[in-house]
Amino acid sequence: MKPYLKTTPDAEGFFGDYGGAMLPPPLVPHFAEIVEAYEKISKSADYINELRYIRKHFQGRPTPISFLKNLSELAGGARIYAKREDLNHTGAHKLNHCMAEGLLAKYMGKTKLIAETGAGQHGVALATAAAYFGLECEIHMGEVDMAKEAPNVTRMKLLGATVVPVGEGAKTLKEAVDSAFGSYVAQADHALFGIGSVVGPHPFPMMVRDFQKIVGVESREQFVEMTGELPDIVAACVGGGSNAMGIFSGFIDDEDVDLYGVEPLGTSSNLGDHAATLTYGQDGDIHGFRTKMLVDENGEPAPVNTLASGLDYPGVGPEHAHLQKIGKVSYTTADDKEALDAFYKLSRHEGIIPALESAHAMAFALREAKNHKGKAILINLSGRGDKDLDYVVDTYGYGA
Ligand SMILES: *Cc1c(COP(=O)(O)O)cnc(C)c1O
Repeated sequence: MKPYLKTTPDAEGFFGDYGGAMLPPPLVPHFAEIVEAYEKISKSADYINELRYIRKHFQGRPTPISFLKNLSELAGGARIYAKREDLNHTGAHKLNHCMAEGLLAKYMGKTKLIAETGAGQHGVALATAAAYFGLECEIHMGEVDMAKEAPNVTRMKLLGATVVPVGEGAKTLKEAVDSAFGSYVAQADHALFGIGSVVGPHPFPMMVRDFQKIVGVESREQFVEMTGELPDIVAACVGGGSNAMGIFSGFIDDEDVDLYGVEPLGTSSNLGDHAATLTYGQDGDIHGFRTKMLVDENGEPAPVNTLASGLDYPGVGPEHAHLQKIGKVSYTTADDKEALDAFYKLSRHEGIIPALESAHAMAFALREAKNHKGKAILINLSGRGDKDLDYVVDTYGYGA
């Protein structure tokens, strides 16, 4: 059988029924250019070697796998391990795809990176890549988010990015996406759009998966070296789904490894209270591709809610919708309370303060450990919690 990653997506960017590219006409030639350039550049020895060099000497890869001995004992059952993407430069997995997007822009002869950002994590990672490659960087951000996430605005500016405030509508992520796309259309001859997850029109879901695959490739090798075998379960939180696709990529052809995506259940399973798209959503089109999404009574993207701002997207990467449909990956949820509990436990018992996003994957491992005695669970610890400290402590204190 051909390896899964080699056969998916198809030439039009479809993962089974999901994905594709529904583009405004002016963008069609620009996306065709990206598809063609990526096909060529991604196979060139210069590009591959330069990316390898960056991974090692700038990002600090490989990141380790840690055995969480104390939490494994506390949870009572499976051994729990964490892939430490919190130790990647800038503190999360996002730099894995941002550096590759910057490198692709350079090889394509582009001089600028454009993107939107919600809480600012993607904006900071992309601005870091732009600084490294000497590219201009334009980040669109809702005015409400800019006020909420002021330290990330400061970081982006220090890194040399232009932050464009978006004052339309609710002044948050959705308006920032529209604003960034509009600006990109006008500059597509010299700019590349730096998408922040395995979402968007083809070829972005495929490219971002390829850029994150390093997490899975390292994990598989490191885990076997550490334990002599493969993990029984691999789990990751799912917002758009890039850190999950990264670690899943290393194990996707291993029949004996069960893969789990963990979506945020927020405060309840009522529409508007969560962002569990695969668990409660339906088929639909959003931001130029077909996937599963949460919709309101008018068929518009529904409001979403979770304490982890990096997970609050009413759509999801099309490949996850496909993997769910074909039964290759199971999707489940963790709510705000479980994620907070995992946040405190990982901090107190292991000395690792995780991002609230990653705490959802941890919550799953803590919950499932007792049902898998003698087995091994590997989670992707997608990022560190520095960005969440003030919010958590001001709102919930220091935990029990
Ligand atoms: C952005 C972010 C996520 C969610 O994005 P995915 O594309 O679903 O991986 C998860 N964890 C951290 C730390 C993030 O910054």
